[in-house]
Amino acid sequence: MNTLELYAHKLGEMVRIPTVSKREDEDLSLFYQLHNKMQELYPLLHQHLEKTILNGTLLYHWTGSDPERRPILFMGHQDVVPASDEGWYVPAYSGQVVDGNLYGRGALDCKSTMFVELQAVEELLAEGFTPPCDVYLVYSINEETGGDGTAAAVRYLQTKGIRLALVIDEGGAVIDKAVDGMDRPYAVIGITEKGYMDVKITARGKGGHSSTPPKGTPAARLFAFASEIEQKRPFAKKLLPEVKEMFAAMAPSFPQPLRFVLGNLWLFKPLVMALMPKISPFGEAVMATTCCFTMMKGSDAANVIPKEPWLVANLRTSVHQGCDASLAVLQKYADKYDLELEVLMRRDASPVSNIHSPEYAYVVDCIHKQFPDVGVAPYIIMGGTDCRHFHALTENALRFAPVRMTSAQSASCHGVNENVTVSALAEGVEFFKMFLKGYQL
Ligand SMILES: [Zn+2]
Repeated sequence: MNTLELYAHKLGEMVRIPTVSKREDEDLSLFYQLHNKMQELYPLLHQHLEKTILNGTLLYHWTGSDPERRPILFMGHQDVVPASDEGWYVPAYSGQVVDGNLYGRGALDCKSTMFVELQAVEELLAEGFTPPCDVYLVYSINEETGGDGTAAAVRYLQTKGIRLALVIDEGGAVIDKAVDGMDRPYAVIGITEKGYMDVKITARGKGGHSSTPPKGTPAARLFAFASEIEQKRPFAKKLLPEVKEMFAAMAPSFPQPLRFVLGNLWLFKPLVMALMPKISPFGEAVMATTCCFTMMKGSDAANVIPKEPWLVANLRTSVHQGCDASLAVLQKYADKYDLELEVLMRRDASPVSNIHSPEYAYVVDCIHKQFPDVGVAPYIIMGGTDCRHFHALTENALRFAPVRMTSAQSASCHGVNENVTVSALAEGVEFFKMFLKGYQL
């Protein structure tokens, strides 16, 4: 077996165990099966690192040569979202390699991240390497469902009084087209996550027969509300300094005139704020809270006016306009149409990691060395990762998996035919080895 075959074999073995997310009180036997498999695949790691299992969530501790230095932590997650075989080229949990790509649920999200971290440690141990500071690895069992696994690991480290210099998690990656129109791959480092809020909007009315409809039926008021929100996009737009930095870093890879405009934000900021949302939904999403209507219910019959139809809006709240402030905006419009709001779920945006820290600079430096052909930019994550829990322990919670992927591969996470390029695994392993060998902070 050559190196790439070995890597594909190891990742394939992990993918073949269908560790769909679980709560801590559910049957965790598949996760324990994965733990046993990992013990077999990474023997040196299991010999030298201390392993703690917190209700299925794994926490490894590698003692470094200097206990005075702040530890660093690499993470990912063991769980995957469910998959059926429908629409897949190969069975969804087969871990089969086709044309140099390994297919299977979890191949990218997030077992490739786990693999490159674990394999780097395994190879460094084989070389007799001791890290300069303590290193932790954390892999939860319920990242995909927003469960408590990682939070439990954070609490565990907190009880030991540990502060971390740096955390690296999934979230960003090396993507061929991070944003449409770019001419080179970019390594995007997630530095914050937008907030999340589900709001149920209910219209109440008398109901009745649809043959003699009055004006202002509840459903019509809901539609008017939704259409006004969608047209006006009433949330506050702001260019955070980190977003400016992102645009500036990406500017050289855009065609003109966008390149010139983004490269000169000091001059074109108002133009960019007005134009970006029109150019791409991404442009709006990095600048403001977004609101998307996702669920609805009317009456149960075609000829019955609903008494209390409802809609659900899914909001991704911005750092500068959190859940409370975004809800206040919705409320103003809800009052206009006599609608009731109910928050079903909410989580504010995470803090923003420091992009001027030496740790951030070191990550960027390692990316340039390992991926000399790519640009590097900070990035705002629209979804959620477990990394947000670690803002409590570090100012450098960074979402970056050193795995090269196409935008189609990136889109295959949670979809059909999730796959990772096997040669990209080797780059990821090298990245973490280089990272640890050169780390001097
Ligand atoms: Zn993930």
